[in-house]
Amino acid sequence: MSTAVHDRLSRPLRSLRLSVTDRCNLRCSYCMPEEDYVWLPREGLLDFDELARLTRIMVGVGVTRARLTGGEPLLRRDLPTLVAELAHRTGLDELALTTNGILLAELAMPLAHAGLTRITVSLDTLEPARFRAITRKDELPRVLEGLRAAVDAGLAPKIDTVVVRGVNDDELVRLLDHARGLGAMLRFIEYMDVGGATHWRGDAVVSRAEILARVTAERGPAMPIQDRGSAPAESFMLPDGQRFGVIASVTAPFCSACDRARVTADGQWFPCLYGRRGLDLKGPLRNGASDESIAELVRGAWEARDDRGAEARAALSNREPLVPAHTLKRDPHLEMHTRGG
Ligand code: SAM
Ligand code: SF4
Ligand code: SF4
Repeated sequence: MSTAVHDRLSRPLRSLRLSVTDRCNLRCSYCMPEEDYVWLPREGLLDFDELARLTRIMVGVGVTRARLTGGEPLLRRDLPTLVAELAHRTGLDELALTTNGILLAELAMPLAHAGLTRITVSLDTLEPARFRAITRKDELPRVLEGLRAAVDAGLAPKIDTVVVRGVNDDELVRLLDHARGLGAMLRFIEYMDVGGATHWRGDAVVSRAEILARVTAERGPAMPIQDRGSAPAESFMLPDGQRFGVIASVTAPFCSACDRARVTADGQWFPCLYGRRGLDLKGPLRNGASDESIAELVRGAWEARDDRGAEARAALSNREPLVPAHTLKRDPHLEMHTRGG
């Protein structure tokens, strides 16, 4: 393992979220609720060689884990080819992917063969009409098929559920039961006021405390297990042994242990999900800069980092959506679907 670079709050850079596209085949109400979007120009997207080179440079400055995301990462053509390159030829210890699952039935096995080590599938409901209302698409059967294919391919999927009041907060136990049937770990995520969540309201957030109370009321006490380290989820165990997680980014943010940075599909590097400014890495990658000089850029930016985006948001007394829709149109890099969540 290379020596990690530390930021001003002594947090190492260990984990990378690599977005491979800003396009998506869903329109989740908490992520892409608008009618129109401004997309990143296609010629600006990093190609597979550039993504692999960048990942090798990141490994050189201490990154050990990467997660492919988007937009919807399975929309990126030939993704298993990229996965094979990243998994076997960059020095990463772990390569994961987050997907909405629509294209997973066809891709689970090729991705597993290519060397993907972990997968997370987003699933907010088991009711088809509700799925349509949340995502504007009728794709629940394909997502469930994809999830099953991930289990069959040995990818041991996790399921991520964004809980929104009045939308799916009556379905928590049913979702847990479904996860148990698949042998999958489910994590409930508090609805965050990130860029893109232009319809966010504080009273739509179902807090960690409320999630635990609801699960406990039906399934018995949820006991905390293990120290979460730098992982965003806290883990709990139910009396029957089922484990699940809660990601409380709104009511109990975990910035003090945050070791992750994000790269958008066009090579902008963001040291915080809530950060306004990225560092352009595509320019140096395409303009003949050496690996060492790009590594220096990254090291310098990480050493200067003092972001605590979610904690700073939690300290606000009057919380509104982070970025208004018209500003997002001017700068799509502020969107969650561009940054990769
Ligand atoms: N399209 C893929 C998917 O949905 O899994 C990957 C990209 S998506 C931006 C990554 C994660 O961000 C998903 O699990 C999604 O549920 C989560 N997400 C998006 N908007 C969110 C919000 N406002 N609050 C909490 N999580 C959100
Ligand atoms: Fe939904 Fe993921 Fe697409 Fe956002 S990027 S709209 S969370 S599927
Ligand atoms: Fe890390 Fe920023 Fe998220 Fe806090 S808000 S956990 S610093 S990415």
